[in-house]
This record gives sequence, C-alpha cells and structure tokens, in this order.
Amino acid sequence: MRTLIAAALAAASLIPGAAQAAADPALKQEVAAAVEAQRKQIQVMVDEIYSFAEPGFQEVKTSEYLAGILEKNGFTIVRGVAGVPTAFTATWGTGGPKIALGSDIDGLLGVSQVPGVAEVKPLTEGAPGHGEGHNSGMPLMVAAALAAKQVMTKHGLQGRLMLWPGVAEELLATKAYYVRAGMFKDVDASIFAHVNTGFGTGWGDLGLTGMISVEYEWKGKTAHSAGMPWEGRSALDGVELMDVMWNFRREHLPLTQRSHDVITNGGGQPNVVPDKASSWYYFRDKDFASLRNLYEVGNQISEASALATGTTVSRKVLGFAAPNYGNKPLAEALYANIETVGVPQWSAADQAFAKAVQVKNHLKVAPLPDKVAPLSTPDLRGDASFGGSDDIGDVMWTVPTVTIGYPANIPNVIFHHATAAMAMATPIAHKGTVVGAKAVAMTILDLVTTPQIITEAKTWMKDVQLKDQKYDPLIAATDMPAIDRNARTMAQIRPAMQPSYYDPKKYDSYLQQLGIDYEASGRETSGAGS
Ligand SMILES: [Zn+2]
Repeated sequence: MRTLIAAALAAASLIPGAAQAAADPALKQEVAAAVEAQRKQIQVMVDEIYSFAEPGFQEVKTSEYLAGILEKNGFTIVRGVAGVPTAFTATWGTGGPKIALGSDIDGLLGVSQVPGVAEVKPLTEGAPGHGEGHNSGMPLMVAAALAAKQVMTKHGLQGRLMLWPGVAEELLATKAYYVRAGMFKDVDASIFAHVNTGFGTGWGDLGLTGMISVEYEWKGKTAHSAGMPWEGRSALDGVELMDVMWNFRREHLPLTQRSHDVITNGGGQPNVVPDKASSWYYFRDKDFASLRNLYEVGNQISEASALATGTTVSRKVLGFAAPNYGNKPLAEALYANIETVGVPQWSAADQAFAKAVQVKNHLKVAPLPDKVAPLSTPDLRGDASFGGSDDIGDVMWTVPTVTIGYPANIPNVIFHHATAAMAMATPIAHKGTVVGAKAVAMTILDLVTTPQIITEAKTWMKDVQLKDQKYDPLIAATDMPAIDRNARTMAQIRPAMQPSYYDPKKYDSYLQQLGIDYEASGRETSGAGS
C-alpha cells in the first residue's frame, strides 16, 4: 500500500509539533546510543528477512527468527496468537504503561529481486520478494525494544513492551483478527512502523481507505457444453455477470470508493460447463458506514447474478482493514524525536545507487532525503485520499496508535514491484532502519516516564477520534484468518529459495554473499543524467 503514506507525508507542509513534557534528553541520548550499538545486528536482521522473502501467512522462517531473537533477550513469547500460526506476541517488563510495537513482515508474490543492482533481476525466478520493504520494520522494532529494555532496566523505569508482527498485511488479513482476539485489550499506546522514502509521522484521518476483501463462489452443474448445454448451469456465468453488473453500478457509487477484482477460478476446460467458479473482490471506502454500504451492494449483486444464472453463491471474507487514524498526542511526541534524530548520513554511494535505480527504471529522479518530512496534519492534507488501505487501521480504532514512516527505501520507486526491493538489503535500508529505531526507542522512554502523554492520547482518542465514528469491523464471528493462502505456492518454490538464504556467520552482508558490488551498481549510471 505504500505510496500512500509517502504521499501523505509529501502532501503536508511545515508545522512545528506542539511542545510537551517528555523524557530527560540525557536518557534519550542513552537509548539512541543503545540503538547505535546494534547497527551491525540491524543490518543482519534486515538482510536475513530480505532473503527469507515469505508471502502472507507463510512467514514461518521470519516469524521464528524474530521470536527467537526476542526470546533470547528475555521476552516472553506466545506463538500462534489469534489463530494465526506465524503471529506471536513478545512481552517484557512489569508495571507502568503497556506499549505495543508492531510492523509487517510479509513479502509479495513474484517480485524476487537481487538487492543492490539497479535493474530488474530475480534472485529466484518466480519467487516472492520484498518489493515494498517489509523486511525492515520488525528489525527496527526489535532494536528499539532491546535498547529501551536496557535503559529501563538500568534506571529502574516501569513499563511493559509487547512486540507483534503484522502477518499478511499485503492481504490485509490479520489485524482485525488480532483485535478480535483481544491482543490489544490492555495496551495503553501503540507504535507501528512502516517503511517509507521519507522520515515522518502524522495524525488524524490519514486518507487511507477502509477495505473488505471477499471471495465469492458460485456453484452450478456440469454438462457437455455442446451436447447437452441445457442440462448445465454455469458458475462462470455467475462470475462474469457479477463483473458486468458491478461495473454498471460503479457509475452510481460514491466517488470515494475503490473496487477491483480478479477471477480466482474460471472453470476447467471449455467443453465442460463449470460447476464451480469464483472471484475475489476488494471493496474500499473512506469511512465505516460507506464501506458497509459498498459491501452490501456487492453482496446483493452477487445474489442477483446467481439468480439470473440458476446457480448459487456463497462468500468468504479474506481480510478487512479499518480506515487509518493517527493519534495526535502520540504523533507529536514521536515527531519531536524524529526531528532530534534527523535523516541518515547518506554516502555518495547511497545517492549514486538511488539515482541509478531511478534512471535505469525510468522513475522520477530525486535524491535520498536531506531533512525529515513535515508533521502530517489534517489541515495540511486537506481532502487528500490515497486509495489504498493498511490494516493497522483496526489497531488505530482500538488503542491510541501512531505510525512512523522511516527512510529505508528510494524515492519514487514503484511499490509492489522489483524497484521497491532493490535498496532493501543495502546500506540505504540499514541506515533508514537505524534512524527509525532511534526515534521509536526515544518515544518509548517518553511514554514510560511521562504518563501525561498517554492520558492525553486516550482523551484525544475518546473526544476527537471516536466522537462521530466507532470501530465497525465487517468480519463476522464465523470468519477466520485465511491461513492457507500462499501455502501451495511456497511448498513449490521454497526449495529453490533456500540456497539463497543469508548466512551472517560466513558473510559480512547479504550483498557480499551475493557478490554484488554496490558502489559499482551506482557508478555505472552516474553521469547518465536524469
Ligand atoms: Zn506495507
């Protein structure tokens, strides 16, 4: 979904964050230094998860790797939470506020990419890849949590940390279930991290749509398509009619909606009338009420198509995402720390590689950022709508939540595409993850030393965010996480991917293991112009 927060950040302009009480600056310097001391380990984690490249619900290696690191560092792990095998919670601490720290971990089908080269080149042909950068978010949170734990222990600060991975975010398929399972019920504040090309945060309605993902299945009757077609009832006709009817109806839907579908089963062969067929829809709109209306129109049309074709139709919800709403007091506290940390010190090789990726892939040329993004506020964004969705929305309507965007990717790359993977196991990703971890670690200290921020965050959520809308997830009690998704794909492709897993004991970096000359990758095109 990523262009969205990038766009949200870009749409904003300069407004200083409100001054507020915060942790002692010396304590914050100490925690930032504790992150800095993990720079090597951050590189290893980012590279390792890049090499695992597991799609939604199949993040087996990634999940075990992260939980293992946290377990070794004194966190209590609960695996398989909310009925999702690759989900876990990792908790540490006693007393004080409970702070949730999360980020997504899934890759995307078909975007395998050799890192550190500026042209499309699969690492494993046909395999998934990190074509958005979800390999960096949990390493950021792990580093921030370990640094905070160290400083909190030393200074006897009370507080509880709970890390959790966003499983199958690209399918928008788990966070509503996490909320339903009560994962956040005693959480006081939540910080979420998402890879970005800028460094910033925002609050209010972030302009990301709410979404429901639903697969419809039609059932008919087979028959010889030429010999006795009158005996058949085509399930594929149901699929096609719904598509046509939805597109006629689209003209009369609110302009705020987005909807799209793919046919997931169109039948077997032409001379057998298909008795089973299915299509998968994403319905999106800006608020809960509009989303519910849109979903109901979709369901009515599916039933109309079944009636017209003499078939029956059923539906299965595969995911849900609430509209995104950032908490103001938390965003202001986080933003003050983002400003203190500042953007990474990019090397000439980093800038050259970024430019090479942009030039060779015909993208708009822009340097890696030299300053933090402005705090993104409703006034500055106006009515901007960014189309896509992020299921962190479900957490945002449950507990005060803020998303940090950190500069680990190259400006203007195409997300969900190989160009967005090229930098994600290079120094650009490593440095962006380090600054993000510092800002989060400093914010954790603000929250554990300054209860006033949490009180204000909760009050603001109640009085402003929940004033006109309340959380309305469209998942029914019988809907369950679609944990079998991508299982067959991974069973086939995983053996081909295994030889490329990063071995940090043998190689200083993943680039070194793959024999990539990062500096040369940038040099080749420097001077190629824009
Ligand atoms: Zn994402």
